[in-house]
Amino acid sequence: MALVWDEAYLGYDMGPQHPLHPIRLDLTMRLARSLGVLDRPNVTMLAPVSADDDLLTLVHDAAYLDAVRRAPDEPWRSSFGLGTSDNPVFPRMHEVSALIAGGSVVAARRVWEGNSQHAVNIAGGLHHAMRSQASGFCVYNDASIAIAWLLAQGAERIAYVDVDVHHGDGVQATFYRDPRVLTISVHESPLTLWPGTGYPAETGDDDAVGTAVNLPLPAGTADGDWLRAFHAVVPSALRAFRPQVLVTQCGCDTHRDDPLANLALSVDGQRTAFAALHALAHEVCDGRWLALGGGGYGLVRCVPRAWTHLLAEATGHPVDPQTPIPADWTGYVRERALRAAPPKTMGEGADLEWQPWELERTRPVDRAIEATRRASFPLFGLDPDDPRD
Ligand SMILES: [Zn+2]
Ligand SMILES: [Zn+2]
Repeated sequence: MALVWDEAYLGYDMGPQHPLHPIRLDLTMRLARSLGVLDRPNVTMLAPVSADDDLLTLVHDAAYLDAVRRAPDEPWRSSFGLGTSDNPVFPRMHEVSALIAGGSVVAARRVWEGNSQHAVNIAGGLHHAMRSQASGFCVYNDASIAIAWLLAQGAERIAYVDVDVHHGDGVQATFYRDPRVLTISVHESPLTLWPGTGYPAETGDDDAVGTAVNLPLPAGTADGDWLRAFHAVVPSALRAFRPQVLVTQCGCDTHRDDPLANLALSVDGQRTAFAALHALAHEVCDGRWLALGGGGYGLVRCVPRAWTHLLAEATGHPVDPQTPIPADWTGYVRERALRAAPPKTMGEGADLEWQPWELERTRPVDRAIEATRRASFPLFGLDPDDPRD
C-alpha cells in the first residue's frame, strides 16, 4: 500500500470556522501512526508532486485556473464559485489544491504502473469541483484529474465508487458522456441534502448511457440498510463493467453524528464499507485500487477513526474495532483544546447485521434500491428484479 502524504496538505485551510478543518487530516495521520499502521512493512510513503497546468486542464478550464491563482491577491474580484462561505479564498489556494490533485495522480500512477496494488490519498476526494467552478469546499477535482490521467495512459475502463454522504456530482459531470468511466454514487437523497442531484434517472448521456449509477438513500439510513443497499447495487454494476482500476471516494460524512448530513452510519459500518470496496478491487480488477478521502466533519470522533480503518484495510490488516485509542493521541486532542471528547476505542460497538436484498416494498431503503436497479440494471443487461443479479 502506498500512502501519499505531505504536511503541506494542512495548508488546505478554509478558516477556523469552516467545516473542512485540516485538523481532521492531522488527527488521522497521528492516529494511524500511533497505532503502527504507517510502520507496517508493506507501507510506502510517497510525497505528492504538484499538478501542472497540463494535468489540471484535463478537467478544468484555463480561465478557472487563472481565477484560482489570482484569488488570494484579489479576493474582491472572485468569481467561479470562489469567495463564498462554502469556498472561501485562502492563502496559496492554487498551490495547495494543485498539490492535492497531484497527490492523487501520484497515487494513480503507483497503481497503474504496478508498484503498489493499492494507493491512498486521504487529502483527495474533492468530488464537487466542476470544470469552471469551485463547489462544496472543493477547488480542483483531484478524483476526476487522476481518472483523466489514467485514461491518457491508455486505460479503457475505470470505475469510480463514491460513498460520501453527498452526491459525487463533479466526477459524474466530468465523465457523463464518457463510456470509459463508470461513476457510482451512494449518497443521502437529493430531496434532503445538497447538492440536490444524484437521482437514479441520471444514468449518463450519448454513448455513455448506463455509465452513471446513482443510489440515493433516505435520511436516517443506518449501517444495516446502507450495507444492504450497497450490496444490492454496487457489486453487480462493477462486475458487469469489468474495470481495470477501481477509484473510490471514501468520504465519512455518512456518520450519524456528522454535522452536515443525515445518514446514520457508525465508524464500524464505514469500516465495513471500506472492506467491501477493498474486496471488490481484488475481485473485479486484480486489486488495482486508488482510495481517496472526501467529506467528514466529525473532526475528532469520526474522521480519524474511519480513515485509520481505511488505511489499515488497504495494508491488508484491518484494525480491530475494540482496539483502545492510544493515550498519546488523546493527549494531543486535549492539547489542541478541541471540544469533542476523544473516543476510547477504534469502534462504536455497532450492530452490523444486514440481510441481502430481496424486495420488501414496505421498507423505504428497498424502494430506493428498487428505483436504482430499475433505472440502471437493464443498461448493464442485468435483471432489476432478480436478487441474484
Ligand atoms: Zn460529503
Ligand atoms: Zn488488498
